[in-house]
Amino acid sequence: MLNKLNLRKLILLLCMFSVAITLLNALYSVYRVQRALILNNTMESNWVYAEKMASMTDTFINSAMSQLNFSANNLRDKMGNIQALDREVDRLRLQTNSFNSVVIVDTESTIIAISPETLAMKGVVLTQEPARQSLNARAPLITDPFVSPSGNYITSISHPIYAETGDYLGYISGTLYLDKANILNTILGKHSYRDGSYMYVVDRNGTIIFHPDERRIGQVIKNNAAITAVINGEDGYAEIINSQGIDMLAGYAPVNNSRWGVVVQKPKSNALESLDKQMYDVMLEGLPLGLVTLLLIWGFSVFITRPLRQLANAVTHVENYQSTVSNLTRINAWYFEVKHLRRSFLNAFSIVSNTIDKLHSDTLTDAMTGLLNRRGLDKAIEQFREQNRPFSLLALDIDHFKRVNDTFGHDVGDELIINVGKKMTVQARTQDIVCRSGGEEFVIFLANTDSVQAFDVAERIRRSIEVFDFETVGRVTISIGVSYWQGQTESVHEAIKHADNALYEAKRKGRNRTEMHASQ
Ligand code: GH3
Ligand code: MG
Ligand code: MG
Repeated sequence: MLNKLNLRKLILLLCMFSVAITLLNALYSVYRVQRALILNNTMESNWVYAEKMASMTDTFINSAMSQLNFSANNLRDKMGNIQALDREVDRLRLQTNSFNSVVIVDTESTIIAISPETLAMKGVVLTQEPARQSLNARAPLITDPFVSPSGNYITSISHPIYAETGDYLGYISGTLYLDKANILNTILGKHSYRDGSYMYVVDRNGTIIFHPDERRIGQVIKNNAAITAVINGEDGYAEIINSQGIDMLAGYAPVNNSRWGVVVQKPKSNALESLDKQMYDVMLEGLPLGLVTLLLIWGFSVFITRPLRQLANAVTHVENYQSTVSNLTRINAWYFEVKHLRRSFLNAFSIVSNTIDKLHSDTLTDAMTGLLNRRGLDKAIEQFREQNRPFSLLALDIDHFKRVNDTFGHDVGDELIINVGKKMTVQARTQDIVCRSGGEEFVIFLANTDSVQAFDVAERIRRSIEVFDFETVGRVTISIGVSYWQGQTESVHEAIKHADNALYEAKRKGRNRTEMHASQ
């Protein structure tokens, strides 16, 4: 895996990683913000709804109180008139629809009138604590829930009846059957909502007096932060855990007259349901742009890494100097690193290539005179021979060179060899190739030259040296042998040998002369 890594993959990986982190980060932030928003909005709307319901309940209680007050005033001089009492309780119950039942109770706690009459409780003495409270209060009162003698779970709203003289005569009371249909149910609406939210009402002790689930009515709820707050008269909202251990978003508001509390709550999970869908939508919406971004990243990484890749390829597969250099020059080096790397590669290649050229030419030239050596000459001749073009050869040797060495020393001898070589080069024609074949011996290659012309050139050279005054040494002479290449049947070696033979002949005949190879 690791050795398959390249810059393009690394850039891609890096970009994908950054994009992924950024996207996740963005999604997470959106999620957090949306979540907080949804929770807050839900709790606030629950709160607003609880306040509205509390104020409606308040209005109902106010109106019930005024109705009872009106009746109490009506009854102050009719307490002895049973028929009038019966009429009043019926009127109150049937005209206003505010109460499930209406009773009038005298100071002995005895029911003296009741509607509906079907309850058949006239004459019954009320002994329950809440009933005694109503009697003893001598003022308007809303009782805690209790079970009435007829077996209903009720709360009652009572108002005292006073005679003109100010004597206390008893009270009139309207009841609400908490576990049956009552006016509160009608006002508050008994249904729970499709989104899982519901509302309930507790009395001042935390007893549920209204709940969409009737089985809950009468239960006392402890350890519920919303209920604790609302029966203390506070309003607001909070995240709470309900009696079933479910996380709830609650809004609450107190009913001031009765010290009841209204709580509206919705399961947190229901509220957050829409968030999952929202996040899914956000991701779906972002998908096309995400894909385009990935494509762009891919394109850019290709674009950025291409010159480097081309550089790497060019220097990995070096076939020859020329093609490598041309590959390198073709690269579009559009940024700093590639520009400099390419320049360095080109420099390195040119240095290497020059060095190779130099080494190559070193093997073909004579260091002392700068003329070709025997190998260089062989190569030059070989090319010529392959093309089957005629040529002549001169073999030259300095006469009595030992004496020069002996008389003036080896260094002066060297100097003489160099100068004689120069003289030969000057005298030879431009197309001729002068080479030092060893010691104080030379060979001159004369291209496209027959033996007669070659003899002329040899003589010209010989004479030019004969008359020249060399530094320190003075006059020296050379002997020359000439041979003419016979054509492809004859090897270059043989041609040189023939020239050597002729040279030997020239020496033998007294030196400072030119001899043709015998067969020519
Ligand atoms: P001749 O050719 O006329 O027969 O006489 P010669 O004295 O030149 O005899 P030969 O060609 O046999 O001797 C060549 C001498 O040149 C032998 C060697 O000491 C000397 N020599 C060879 N190479 C060099 C060189 O590179 N530098 C110097 N200074 N002397 C060299
Ligand atoms: Mg010699
Ligand atoms: Mg010699």
